[in-house]
Amino acid sequence: MESLFNQLLAEAKAVHDAVPALRDFAVWPEDLVFEPPVPRGVPVLPTIEAMSGDGALQAALAAVGRYASWVQTYSEEEVGRHFLDHYGYIELFGPTGIFRTQACRAFVGYWGPGLFYPMHDHEAEEIYLVLTGRCLFEAEGDAPADLGPGGIKLHRSGQSHAMTMGDEGMLALCLWRGVGLAEDAKLS
Ligand code: ZN
Repeated sequence: MESLFNQLLAEAKAVHDAVPALRDFAVWPEDLVFEPPVPRGVPVLPTIEAMSGDGALQAALAAVGRYASWVQTYSEEEVGRHFLDHYGYIELFGPTGIFRTQACRAFVGYWGPGLFYPMHDHEAEEIYLVLTGRCLFEAEGDAPADLGPGGIKLHRSGQSHAMTMGDEGMLALCLWRGVGLAEDAKLS
């Protein structure tokens, strides 16, 4: 099982190393320690597993799907049942990640077709890389950005941002750095 997570980590590192904006955002942590996750599923997991043909990272993600601890940080009162049935993410590395580090944080997350992720914010700085699908990113003070695979969006510390998913939804790699690393995003 650990080897499957190591494979996912290696594929995420290959993406990081190939994308200058990600390399500039954060150095890949050298102090990662595997912390075996307690498996926790989400309703959208089969959809994520079905993306295994989209690329090496997606295939590695599908392989760990059933062993990973999938996270949802919002309640039904905040975002509604439809949202909770169509989103989920894993913390690949970070303060509470599958691989532990205090240096920075990496998530792989999926949001389903047409989903609207309302304005939210967090103190940590953030960069998104779209892996599969499309998303319209709207952030306070920025021009809206409709991004497909390879698209990059940065969010400053405390900058409110919202996301509207395209027809396929969006799978994304997301990195956090700086102050507030261990906190959750909050609806603005
Ligand atoms: Zn964010």
